[in-house]
Amino acid sequence: MLLIDCPYCGKRPEIEFSYGGEAHVARPADPQALSDDAWAAYLYLRSNPKGRHAERWRHTHGCARFFNAVRDTVSDFFVTTYKVGETPPAEAWPRAAE
Ligand SMILES: [Zn+2]
Repeated sequence: MLLIDCPYCGKRPEIEFSYGGEAHVARPADPQALSDDAWAAYLYLRSNPKGRHAERWRHTHGCARFFNAVRDTVSDFFVTTYKVGETPPAEAWPRAAE
């Protein structure tokens, strides 16, 4: 069974969690100034990377709190989890080829 490390409770079975979409999607400062296309892009367009992805998760059947995670979409491996408002650790992202 896959264990997910809730930053508030520790490692728990995956069945206790719900996926909440892409993390770090910032609401536009002035939505009234956006065109309809730009507003639709904010509402509906999300990245769909092959590899590491910053995601929002909720510990639905535990503390019920939201948190962020960096997960590899190929292997389903959770690289790290962190609280909302924190930035992901730098080591969560692979370095560019040197
Ligand atoms: Zn929790």
